[in-house]
Amino acid sequence: MNLWTSGFVDGLVRRMPMRQLLRRVFTVSITAALVLLSAAVAWLVYTYLVLSSAGELAMHVEAIWYQAYPETRPAETRVGPPPGGSHPLPDGPAGPAPRPPGGPPPPGGPIPGGAGSPLAPPPPVFELQAPPDLERDAPTLVHDIASHPFFTARIVTVAGQVLAASRGADDLPQMDFSIPPVAPHRPWFAPHRLMEVRGRPLLVVALPIVRGGRVVAIVQASRIWWLQTRLLRVLALVSVIGLLVSVAVAYALSARLAGAIVAPLERLAGAAGRIARGDLSARVELAPGPNELSAVAASFDDMAARLQESFAAQKRFVADASHELKTPITAFGGMVDLLEAGVDTSPAQREIIVSTMSREVERMSTLVNDLLVLSRAEHGDGRHDAVDLAEVARRVVEEARQIHPDRPIDSALTPALYTRGDVEGVRRAITNVVDNALKYSPADTRVNVRASRAEDGGVEVVVQDDGPGIPVDALPHVFERFYRADHSRTRATGGSGLGLAIVKAIVEGAGGTVFIESGTGSGTTVTMRLPAA
Ligand code: ATP
Ligand code: MG
Repeated sequence: MNLWTSGFVDGLVRRMPMRQLLRRVFTVSITAALVLLSAAVAWLVYTYLVLSSAGELAMHVEAIWYQAYPETRPAETRVGPPPGGSHPLPDGPAGPAPRPPGGPPPPGGPIPGGAGSPLAPPPPVFELQAPPDLERDAPTLVHDIASHPFFTARIVTVAGQVLAASRGADDLPQMDFSIPPVAPHRPWFAPHRLMEVRGRPLLVVALPIVRGGRVVAIVQASRIWWLQTRLLRVLALVSVIGLLVSVAVAYALSARLAGAIVAPLERLAGAAGRIARGDLSARVELAPGPNELSAVAASFDDMAARLQESFAAQKRFVADASHELKTPITAFGGMVDLLEAGVDTSPAQREIIVSTMSREVERMSTLVNDLLVLSRAEHGDGRHDAVDLAEVARRVVEEARQIHPDRPIDSALTPALYTRGDVEGVRRAITNVVDNALKYSPADTRVNVRASRAEDGGVEVVVQDDGPGIPVDALPHVFERFYRADHSRTRATGGSGLGLAIVKAIVEGAGGTVFIESGTGSGTTVTMRLPAA
């Protein structure tokens, strides 16, 4: 069953556009709800009409009966001050009510809990006590009950003998009232039938007449049910019209609802389509909200923004790389042209040409090498050996001291700081950072290299210098490829702006983080933090 329904639902969802599907589902459910509601209302009105009219009729019969035989009235229903008037308050607790002399106990018996108090008269039980001579009294009783023009009545013995009947009641069908004992939990329920006699709709109640606990006869009382029938017919008509109107309203409402749900999806599909066709600026731009579609749209926009940024970065990268390569190639080409032209050159000039050419070749090869390292680091194809960070830092510092014998380089290295990564990569990262510190700070300032355990349990290398620092607006960009904070200076130092991008790629590739703290005039501190092995 489950499989069947899920297959059915899947089929529906796949075969129909979402908007149409939702529209139908909403229309059907709203209509069904309205049909059920109006059916319930109609049933309630019908039941209320029948029950209240039957109860009213039965109480009318009872009232006539108790008027004729006051002593048969159940004592508990008597309302008013207790006999003797000893109690001044009409709603005070009543004493035990006297029973009719010699009569059977009141039908149903006193109801426990509150029965007997004038405040809580027992509900009607619709059972009448037979008078001593029922046959004699029957015509009067019937006459009194049928005094209302809409009412008819008759009294029939259990053997089927009609003791008395009012005009119009003689042809009431012989009802097979095997009188159901009135259930104590629904004493308001007067036994009744709806029937049609000679084309007239009638509501008939039947009340048992008992003697000594046994039913001896019944009173059948009927009232014309014509007005109520009309009323119910009008109700049915109004319900049908109301239903038609509500189906139309449901349809319109469903269209709105389906639209509200599907519109964001359509916008999402539209944006996805535009991106697929190459327009990376497409966004869904749904208003934020707690709903899942807003979350999907926000993620989509975020993804599109990243995609656009990443494409732009790639474009920039290719442009920058070509630009960087173009400079040495142009210089190199110039020198070759000069030599080719066969211009007379002195040995000294030749020397200059050759050294310029070799410098440009060197520059190109560094650049290409850096690009290769960067590409390898970014694609994470480095190795994952155990690397002692302190040992690598020691070698880098040693090398730097050899290259710059006149620079004061301090180092504080805690031994055995193991991490996992590519030794060459890690060495390269530390070299780049130390290189920057030396390159961008004045020759007489100190550079400090520290390797230690990090607060978070990892291992870290911190390189600090007392140089001019990096301007705040440049700081967020120093890890970008080809970014140089100060073009004029770095041109002279020959940097291509790839150093920190390589550091970031290598450190992040090994699962670590790198951050830089700096400000104009306050020196620079670079921290490379890696997970401990
Ligand atoms: P490369 O490292 O490729 O030779 P580069 O040094 O210019 O070139 P990065 O190492 O990526 O490139 O540094 C980017 C920029 O950040 C540098 O151009 C420089 O302006 C600035 N920078 C980096 N480190 C420091 C530092 N310690 N002090 C001052 N500025 C720095
Ligand atoms: Mg550098």
